[in-house]
Order: sequence, then C-alpha cells, then structure tokens
Amino acid sequence: MSSHPRVAYFCMEYGLDSTFPIYAGGLGILAGDHMKSAGDLRAPITGVGLFWDEGYTRQVVGPGGGLEDQYPKTPRDAVRRLDVMVEVTVRGKRVPLRAWKVERFITSNLYLLEPEHEEDRWITQRLYGGASEDRLAQEILLGVGGVRLLEVLGVPVDLYHFNEGHAVFAGLELLRSSKFGGSTLRERLDRLRPHVVFTTHTPVPAGNEVHELALMRKMDADLGFTDAELEVVGGDPFSMTVAGLRLARLANGVAELHGETAREMWRTVDGAAPIIAITNGVHAPTWQDARVRAALVADKPRERQDAQLWHAHQVMKAELIEEIAARTGIRLAVDRLLIGFARRAATYKRADLLISDERALARLFEQGVQIVYSGKAHPRDTQGKALIGKLIEASKKHPREIVFLQNYDMRLGALLTRGTDVWLNNPRRPLEASGTSGMKAAMNGIPNLSILDGWWPEGCEHGVTGWKIGDADPSDDAFDEKDMARVDKRDRDLLNSVIEREVLPSYKERARWVSIMRASIAMSEWRFSSDRMIEDYLTKVYGATEAAR
Ligand SMILES: *Cc1c(COP(=O)(O)O)cnc(C)c1O
Repeated sequence: MSSHPRVAYFCMEYGLDSTFPIYAGGLGILAGDHMKSAGDLRAPITGVGLFWDEGYTRQVVGPGGGLEDQYPKTPRDAVRRLDVMVEVTVRGKRVPLRAWKVERFITSNLYLLEPEHEEDRWITQRLYGGASEDRLAQEILLGVGGVRLLEVLGVPVDLYHFNEGHAVFAGLELLRSSKFGGSTLRERLDRLRPHVVFTTHTPVPAGNEVHELALMRKMDADLGFTDAELEVVGGDPFSMTVAGLRLARLANGVAELHGETAREMWRTVDGAAPIIAITNGVHAPTWQDARVRAALVADKPRERQDAQLWHAHQVMKAELIEEIAARTGIRLAVDRLLIGFARRAATYKRADLLISDERALARLFEQGVQIVYSGKAHPRDTQGKALIGKLIEASKKHPREIVFLQNYDMRLGALLTRGTDVWLNNPRRPLEASGTSGMKAAMNGIPNLSILDGWWPEGCEHGVTGWKIGDADPSDDAFDEKDMARVDKRDRDLLNSVIEREVLPSYKERARWVSIMRASIAMSEWRFSSDRMIEDYLTKVYGATEAAR
C-alpha cells in the first residue's frame, strides 16, 4: 500500500483496550479500531492523541444508589516514553510536552502527548474534563503539539486526517507555519486544503463545539491569528466543525444516512469541503468471538455449522449470565430471550424507551423477555445520570427480568455483544450518526433490533438479518421538541409490537433463529469491519482527487 499518501490521524481519544482507559465511547473505539486495522493492513497511518492521566470516569453505583465517578490513574505499562520534546503555548505560557508511543494492542504507530511538568498536567488530567477553557487547552496540545511532534520525529505526512473537530488546531498550526506555502491567509488555506481531510461525527447540534473568539484569544496559543482571520476559518463564534469543513478538501460522515444529514446540516457554510459518507466498521479480531468464526468454517456441512454456532452462542450467553451473577447476584435464565442495550447515556439514545410502558413491559416479561442494560453518563451530564438512574430503578423493581451493569467499558461491551440474544438500539432518528455496538453484535450472530438510524438502514433486511423498528420516512423524524413525545410513544409501541410479533416467535423456532444469526454474521463480517472501512478511506478519502504530495 506504499502508493497511498502517508496519513497523520488526529483524535482526542483512542479505545484500544479496557485496561487503557483513554477513551470515552464510540468515537474513541472507532479511532482504536481504525489504528488496529491500519496496522493489520499495513496502511501508512500514524495516530496522534493525548495521554489522559486519569482517563475517563470509572462510574459506579454508590451505596446511596447514585452514580459516583472515580478516576484511577491510567496505567503506563502499555506506553514507552520517547526521547523527544515539543513545546506549545497555552494562555501565553510555554508548555513543554513529552511523547509516548503505544507499544501494545496495535502494530501501527500511535503517539500520545502529555505536559512534561506537573504544573501543566491539569490540561490532560481527564478526558473531556473541565469547561471550554480546558477543552481549548486540550485541543491546542492535540493539534499544535501533534503537528510539531510529527515534525520532530521526522514522520513524513502527505495528508492530515482530523477525526472530529477536536483536531482543527492542527490546521491552524499548519497555516501559521505556512507548511505548504502561500503568503496571505487565503493563499495558505488554498495550499493547505489538498492536504487535509475531516470526519464529522455528530448530527446533534449541541455536540458540535463552538467557542467565542474572545476565548480563543484568551487561550493565546501564540499562533498569530487576528480575530478576523480566525473568523475566516471557523466563523464567529468559532465552530470547530465549520473550521474542519473549511480546512479540508474532503469531509465525510460516518454512515450513508449521516452523510445526508451532515450535508443538509452544513449546507449553508461557504467554502466547506464536500461531504461524502464512509460507514464505520469494527475490528473483527477484537470484537468477533473466535468461537463464532470457528463454527462457520466452510469445511463442514451446514447442519454441523448451525449446531456449532448455536452451541457457541449458548456458551457465550452462559458466560455473560455468570458474569452478571458475579457482579449483581442476579442469575438470568439461559433459555429465555435476553435483550441487550448498552450505550453512553445521551438522551437522544432513549435508554428508557422500553421500560417506560409498564403494561407492555409486564406482557413482555410474561413471554419470557429479560433485559440487560449498561451505560455511562458524562460526569457532568445530570440528564444522562438521571436516565441511568431510571434503568437502575427499573432493575430494582423487576430484579428477575432487568439487570443494570455499572461502568460500561470495552470489556463489558465485548461480553454483551456476544452474550445477549438481541441487540436493541432505539435512538431518535436521525441523531445516531453511526453506532458501532450493533456491528459488534451482528458479527457475533446477535441480530439487531433497531430504529433505521445510523448504519442500520445499510445492514437491515427485516426478518432476515434482524429487525427494524418503524420505517425510514424522513417526515417521521423528530427534530422538534414538541414532536418528541409523540415520536417516542409511536416508537415505543412499534418496538413492543416487533418484539411480540416477530422477535419472540422467531426465537421459539431454533432453525429460524439460527438462520437469522447466520444472516447477521454474513451481512456484517466484511461490510461493517474496520478493514473494509480502512480500504474505503484509502480509496475514497485519502487517495481521492489530486494526489496529496
Ligand atoms: C462499541 C462501544 C461503544 C459505541 O457503541 P454505540 O453503538 O455507538 O453506542 C461505546 N462504548 C463502548 C464501551 C463500546 O464497546
């Protein structure tokens, strides 16, 4: 793949392993899987990130039933300190940075920056910690520090990939240093643009970060831009997404539907890169259980494969049930349908959709349904915490049918996406950009039961690979506060009806169920793998249009 441009990939978080908690959720796990597949495929991609001293919250249910956030130190046994230093400026003060190289979990190169001195360590103390000022300081380290680190290391870069707007300070640094030539700002922008691509990740407006120009000035990174120049790049107030779109020659959303949503959402930004779609994928060696692969090897008759697949599934389900019993003291039944739902507690994901109609819920329980929930809320997201509180309450009210597992992390994610029977996803369409936990489930033969949002319109063949909840009519989408209650009720009723009329009857017929499991695996194994995703980035994003060199 040496003909491909050499790519520097910038991301705020990387989900490589649950023992190395420098990730919060989907964005990080995507970046981790990106680096894993880049290594497997020997694609010339170098990653840059930050070393988060206390990582992201370890979130447990306290003795009083409320959520408590704990911050153990991030272990340093997976990283090796490099013999280089770079420097950035934050609030007019010089901040020397040291660099670590990740030595485990991946074969690609990933470098993580961290302030050298204790007094500056507040910047990288906690992932997504602090307020706007802290966030900007973090972004200065990632972007400005990252570009300077690659220079110092002598890593050749043809193309900079900003994974989400957190990285746009890298663009500002490249403009400042006039890396690709040009004298006026406009000229430098035109020269830089062929060397930048940008991935946007969120159709939730509040998820797109903006900062007052006054604050950008106050954070003084010593890059020499006037307010008027900053406005040319990111608008006023300065939007990280707008800046990303203007700095890049090409941008992408993370599923076909999200590409459409993003094009509509950023339609009025002048000078923005065209937005295409590259659907996310997951790293199969990480997320697909080897026993699933072993069951389906081609050299045995189909009935043997089916029997082995079902057996492997029951074993994995028993393992999950064992883990749940060890953690909660509650033992679920291995022969009853187990629905899984685990997410970050963003309100648009509607974690409480299924449990908020008690009568319908009682009917499901009568028919043998069990539900396992897990989730984590951002430490300062009181709404998200309240949502998780509802799940915990429901598990107390229905201790035989509902369990909640605290501290959702990659290990739990892996256990749940191989040990449940059905994977539920019910966001308010079209707010789920992609979603990747469903891909992990699909690869393990756990069919998705999902709203046609994110990646699911691409993977769903109703009744064959899994099930849809409702249809994909854009006029049904809930953009509007006052529509939400109506849409939520409609989706809840649809969800209950699909479970009763389609999922449960299919589960009662072993042969039918196993054929759905097989179809789910066949649908996802390549199309929703990060190997396919990397190939798409190489051909459709990194290698597209003028060769960047
Ligand atoms: C896969 C995964 C995610 C992302 O899944 P979504 O479907 O986007 O919610 C988040 N957190 C963990 C721990 C995961 O394993």
